[in-house]
This record gives sequence, C-alpha cells and structure tokens, in this order.
Amino acid sequence: MAAQETVDHKYVYDFAEGNKELKDLLGGKGANLAEMTNLGLPVPPGFTITTEACKAYLATGREPDGLAEQIEAHLESLEREMGRRLGDPDDPLLVSVRSGAKFSMPGMMETVLNVGLNDRSVVGLSAQAGGNDRFAWDSYRRLIQMFGKTVCEVPGEEFEHALDEVKRAKGTKNDLDLDADDLRGLVDAYKKIFAKHTGREFPQEPREQLDLAIRAVFESWNAERAVLYRRQERIPADLGTAVNVVSMVFGNLGPDSGTGVAFTRDPASGAQGIYGDYLANAQGEDVVAGIRNTVPLQELEQLDKKSYDELLDIMARLEGHYRDLCDIEFTIERGKLWMLQTRVGKRTAAAAFVIAGQLVDEGLIDLDEALHRVNGAQLAQLMFPRFRLDHDFQPVAKGIGASPGAASGKVVFTSARAVELAAEGESVILVRRETNPDDLNGMIAAQGILTSRGGKTSHAAVVARGMGKTCVSGADELEVDVPAKRFTVGGHTVVEGDVVSIDGTTGKVYLGEVPVMPSEVVQYFEGSLDPEHVDNALVRAVHRIMTHADARRRLLVRTNADTGADAARARRFGAEGIGLCRTEHMFLGDRRELVERLILARTDDERESALAALLPLQRADFEEIFREMDGLPVTVRLIDPPLHEFLPPLEQLAVNVAVAQERGEDVAQEEALLAAVRRMHEENPMLGLRGVRLGLVIPGLFAMQVRAIAEAAVTVTRAGAVARPEIMVPLVGAVQELETVRAEAEKIIAEVVGDSGVEVLIGTMIEVPRAALTAGQIAEAAQFFSFGTNDLTQMGWGFSRDDVEGAFFWRYLELGIFGISPFESIDREGVGRLVRIAAEEGRAARPELKLGVCGEHGGDPDSVHFFHEVGLDYVSCSPFRVPVARLEAGRASVETDGSDSR
Ligand code: PEP
Ligand code: MG
Repeated sequence: MAAQETVDHKYVYDFAEGNKELKDLLGGKGANLAEMTNLGLPVPPGFTITTEACKAYLATGREPDGLAEQIEAHLESLEREMGRRLGDPDDPLLVSVRSGAKFSMPGMMETVLNVGLNDRSVVGLSAQAGGNDRFAWDSYRRLIQMFGKTVCEVPGEEFEHALDEVKRAKGTKNDLDLDADDLRGLVDAYKKIFAKHTGREFPQEPREQLDLAIRAVFESWNAERAVLYRRQERIPADLGTAVNVVSMVFGNLGPDSGTGVAFTRDPASGAQGIYGDYLANAQGEDVVAGIRNTVPLQELEQLDKKSYDELLDIMARLEGHYRDLCDIEFTIERGKLWMLQTRVGKRTAAAAFVIAGQLVDEGLIDLDEALHRVNGAQLAQLMFPRFRLDHDFQPVAKGIGASPGAASGKVVFTSARAVELAAEGESVILVRRETNPDDLNGMIAAQGILTSRGGKTSHAAVVARGMGKTCVSGADELEVDVPAKRFTVGGHTVVEGDVVSIDGTTGKVYLGEVPVMPSEVVQYFEGSLDPEHVDNALVRAVHRIMTHADARRRLLVRTNADTGADAARARRFGAEGIGLCRTEHMFLGDRRELVERLILARTDDERESALAALLPLQRADFEEIFREMDGLPVTVRLIDPPLHEFLPPLEQLAVNVAVAQERGEDVAQEEALLAAVRRMHEENPMLGLRGVRLGLVIPGLFAMQVRAIAEAAVTVTRAGAVARPEIMVPLVGAVQELETVRAEAEKIIAEVVGDSGVEVLIGTMIEVPRAALTAGQIAEAAQFFSFGTNDLTQMGWGFSRDDVEGAFFWRYLELGIFGISPFESIDREGVGRLVRIAAEEGRAARPELKLGVCGEHGGDPDSVHFFHEVGLDYVSCSPFRVPVARLEAGRASVETDGSDSR
C-alpha cells in the first residue's frame, strides 16, 4: 500500500485499493485488475491513475497538483514490493503504461511497454533474464519504437523500415532470426530516427519516460480515432481514461514463456468450454498484430500442464465471481502464470440468451438477473433471417453492421438504376461511397445498401434503419468508382449487375448469392418449433426468458394490425389485443372507386349510396379481425389520412384530362374528379383535413364505420366468439370534437348492439400537443387514450415525419443534437413530457381511464421502459416487434421493483 497521500484529492490507487465497482474512477481495466488482485489471483503489481486525473489534465493542459507526488509514492511502494528499482542498471524494474477507459475502446488509445529501459539498464535486464542479451535488446528496441510512435509522434513506418532493412541484410523474414547484435544495431538505428524526428535524444531518465508515457495516454483520449469511435458507439466524450502502470512480465523469454487470450465460454454460440489462443515465446502485441500463428488454448495443456491447470482454475473462479462470461489476457513467464486483464466479455445476441440460461441452471444468477443480461435489440437481431454459411462463403470485406438483416442482389451504383432494375423485379444492392438525400428513391427500391464510408450514424445507416432495410456502411476495403460503375475489393472487380450479399448484422460482404436461412426464434414464436422437444439451446433459452418476462411484466402488449392475417400472426407472437387497427387500407384497391364516388357526391343521396356500398365491405373486414382476436380487445381507429390520398395525383390527372379533351373524348367524370382533387389540394396535408376533422366535414363517414364495427361485433358474438371493440377517434385536439363524434356514435351503437351483450368503448388518440395539454377535459369524454407518438413527435418537434429522416437527421445525429431519431425512440424530455402530462391529468379526471400507446415507439426497447414508468396499461406495436416489447416490458418491471437485487 502506498504512502501518505498528502493532498486531499486521491489520484492514484494501488491495485489492492480498488475493486470492480470503481470503473468510473479506475476504468474497466484498472477496476478489474484491482478485483483480481483482491481475489488473490496472480496479477503483476501496479497502480492506477484515475480518470479524474486525466480529466483535470485535459481541462488545464497540465498534471493536477499532487499527482506527481502521488505517483512517486506509489512507484516507491511498487519498487519495494518488487525488490527492484525503475531504471536500476543492475536489476531494473520495468513497467507498462496502459490506457483503460470505463467502456472498452479496443485499440483506440495508447500503451507503452518496457518503460524503465535505457542504455544501462538494458544490461541489467539481460542479467535478470539469465544472460539473455537478445531478449534485453529486443525489449529496448520495442520501447524506443512504441515510445517514439506513441509519445513523440515519430512515424511508425520509419521504425518498420529500419527493422525490415536489418532482416533483409540478414536474409530473413522472421524477427526471431535476429540475434542480440542485430537488435543492438537496431536500437542505434531507432535512436537516430527518434532524434531526427524529435530534435532530442531518446530520454534515458526512467521517471521522465514514465511521466511522458502517462501524459501520452491522457492525450490519446482526444485522438481523432478515439473521438470518432466514441461518437459511433455513443460513449460520452467527457469520461476520460485511467492509466494503469503495471510491472512488466515477459512472455518472450523462451519456449517456457508465452501469452494468450481466453473466453470462459464461446462468445459466438454461448457453448460451455474453454475458447482461446496461445502463442509461445511472444508478447501480447504479437498476438494482436498476427505476426505468428497462434495455437488453440487447449494445446497449452501439452506445453505447460501446470500453468494450464492453474488457468482453468482461475477461469472457473472468475466466472463464479463475476457470474458471467469473462474474457482474459494472460502471460506465462518461465512457467509462472500472470493475469493481465479480465472483463465481462462481449458476446453475440444468441450467446447472450444461451449464457443467461446456462447461468440460471448453474445457480449463478436468478431469472430476474437473466432478464437483465439480454435485451430487445438482441432479440430483434435473432428474428432477422440470416445467411446460411455452412458452405464455403468467405467475406471479401467487413464494414459496420448498420441495419440488420441479410440481403442479396445485383449491384447498382446509382439511385436511378436501382429504381429501374427493381421495377423489373430484380433484387438490387445499392453500392455507394456514401449516400445522400438524392439517393432516397434508390434506397427505397433496393434490397440492401452498401457503402464504403460512414459509420452507424451516416446518412445511409440512419435512413436504412428507418426503412428496416439491410445496410452495411463503412466497408472501407471497397474502392467504389461510381462513374465507371464498379468497385474493387481484395483483387476482385465487381461491375454493375454482379450479385453480392451483405449481412447487416455482422457487416460482412460476400461475392455471389448466399442462401438465406429463416430465424429459428421466429419459428419458435410462430409455434413451429417446440422448445420442450427441440435440441436447440438458443430456442430453449429464449423460451425460458420470455416466459419469465411475461410473468414479470405489468405492461400488456398489443399489436398494430389491420388484416386478419396480421392479427393472427401477432397473436401467435403473444399480442394481447389490437391497439391500432388503421382503417385506411380498407379504402384502397378495388374500393377506390367507391371512395371517389363518396368524395365526388353532389347530393346527399349520392353520398349515402356510396357509404351504403362501403358498409358491408367494412363490416366483413371487422368480422375477420374480431374472429381472429376472439376474447381480446380490438381498437379500431376511424379513418385518419387526408382524403386526397385516395384520389389520383393532381399532375397526372390534369395531363390525362388535357389529353382526353384534345382528342374530343367525353371527360365530364374526369373533370369533376380533377376539380375535386384541386379543391382538396393542401400545402400541408399532415396538418390539414384528416382524422376527426374529416369525420366532422363528411356527413355519415364516421357513422358508417361505427355501424360496421358494431354490427360486426354483434355478428361475431352471436356466432359464439367474444368481440371487444374499442372505437378510437384520431387527431382530436379539443374535447368538443370528441363529444360531437361520440354523441352520434353512441346512438348508433345503442341501436345496433341492443341486448347482444356486446360492449363498445369509445376513446381517442392523443397525438396533437393540444390534446395532451387539455387531457383532463378530454378524459371526461373518453374511456381510453392511446398515444399516437408518431404525430405527437411530428407536431411536438415540428418535424414533417415523411421528410426529415432522409433530409437532415443524419446531420443532427452527427452533431449530437440527438443521439437517436425521436421517431425511433421517444424523446423523453419533450414529447415524453407531453405523454406524462396527459397520462397524469387524464387519470386525475377519470381514474379508470385506460392508457396505451400505438405510435412506432410502442415497440422500441427504450421507449417501452419509459411507458412502463409513466404507468400506461399497454404498448402496441407491429406484429414482429411484439416479442421485443414483451421482453422489454418484463425487464422494465424487474428494474423498477428492484426485487432482483443480488
Ligand atoms: C401516431 O400518430 O402515432 C399513430 C399511431 O397514427 P398514424 O401513424 O397512423 O398517424
Ligand atoms: Mg397519427
């Protein structure tokens, strides 16, 4: 334990002083090294300089007061413990200086090894290593190389060239063939390179080396690549990194030394067992650099049984302690095992479920905790089709998995060509360097999008995710030449029309068509895989965790569906009702003609006859849905979109009429239509004549729908099923609108329902900000509210929902104005506040008011947690997202009632 901290701020912690909970302060690596130290595992002694010190340094450009003294004290204590001094010419202590932020940022920041070596201590190191001169000079040249590059920005290639030069002179390609004299010569060459670029000699003073290396690690927090990585991974920019100063152990002291990495379970499938790689006679960076081929970890058993057994024992202890999959880095120095790092390891979505299930079986965690270990995004990933890769398909490139799914198709390079080929029925992949708003049509037409530039928040990624299209972005091995209509990658040239396949989950790109495999998890949800009888660890784990989520959740999950088929599918996926049946589609297709008659009606009779013709069709639609949802509530929304959406486009109609007139044809009908379309044309249709406004303007329209709903419910009920209709009025902003519709609806319902026993609720959407702010009044007239968060977001932000995502959201994301589109995940502070106000004031006015949400947010994981917190009764989402919402609703319950506190 280090000496007296003389200042009140503690910036340095011995490993023995920390623990795994202190990640904010000590970074992930430092906190876990401390944890392992306290578990009594063999960790090379050292200390951690806190993220606070880094932040203070970055804010002021100098080390905070007291830091130098604290480092000195901890260094002295380390020297005492090791029985060696830093830079001692006879028996030197060497240390590594390693970055370690709260969240892992692989390869983004700096590390310097072998600090403490100089012209004199290199001799002492050789003696320490039993006269191994080669090793000592190799360590020294590594220090100059890393220190030069990292701390003093000497171009790394210069060192590489010098090394190549020595190998060439010696006639070898392998570093291991260089002897001590070669390496001594290389140290001289490196020193010259260092002096040439920095204008000074390589520092011989070990403490100066240490201070400069620490400073370089602090500064690497703001290196360009680290900043970009954080932006991409949504890691906050103000966390800073800790710095770990660790006594060196060497895996390159001969065949009885080595280094390796290991996972306590397979991070890809979750299967139990030991997974890892080992490289004899090497240091950690050799494994990462792939200089020599590693061997599977199991082979260590033959090479060094004692270390192997000890490692397995430690891995089991770590798993038991962390109660999770751990990944590990270790080094063996002359038969002595040292643990250099551990952390809870990253894993695939499938492994997350499988491992959570296994840990429950092993008694390490309970089911509540298992729910914590998985999430809806992972479940959604498992529900996409995947490529079958049992054949010999090798990726030619790997970019960023920007929008999940698997897609194959013919390569095109322009939006126009994508549209053309798609119109011919081809599946196409749009390939661009990066996309921009002009590519929108092509993106819509394409099966998938592949770009060579840009990350997860690039235009391509954001727009593709919004559309649910597969997208791989930033595949930078691709040289895309749009004018020449080709790209090259790894020696292959791909021209327009060639087929490629892209995996939007892994980011991998394949040449040719890779067959696609349906998701087993979807098969399970659909009922075609029985979890009790199938030998599939993933399906069994998903079943078990979903069952627990269902048992735990307070929120009900309904679906948005407006056909019998969708309703049936959603029910199999676990939907507990329909939260939104949009009736608009029921006015399309061959019913357009009836709608035109309705709109063009000049007399009450004409209008009523059109409505009378629509009534039986609507009734049949509702009967089908009520039958499928037997016993469950079905919220039917009265017609919402502007009527002109049901009419032909103005320009096209005008041209048709003009051409027909020119030909002298009888165009009275078309002219009337054109006049109606002109009359109804709106500059802002989303803010115009739609929803309840339409119902109030066109007599009989809502009445026809209400009658169809009530009659269908009675018919289905009389046939022995249970119909539970809930009629929902869209776009209400004032209670008077709702009262007017309701008065008429109640009369019709009373007349139709009679003594059939059918009960019909009447409620409203809350999707206009004014409705949210006057919810207390509106609740007087509504039996339920359903939040239309799509429109509430549109009108809350003033963002046209059809335009903005493709037009400029990518820029807002890039600038960090928001971290995720507010159409995708609820904006808690703004739009969410409107929801909260309406929920509170609505319930205050009518305590039994039923509350739900049916905007897209109903299936978004983070939003589900918000709706749970606000106290809604249910969320409603598209059929495919029902399982995700069930899982997240379960997780939200477990989080709030805190009963999982282990
Ligand atoms: C909404 O606005 O959130 C909603 C569900 O209605 P629509 O998307 O049909 O406008
Ligand atoms: Mg709406």
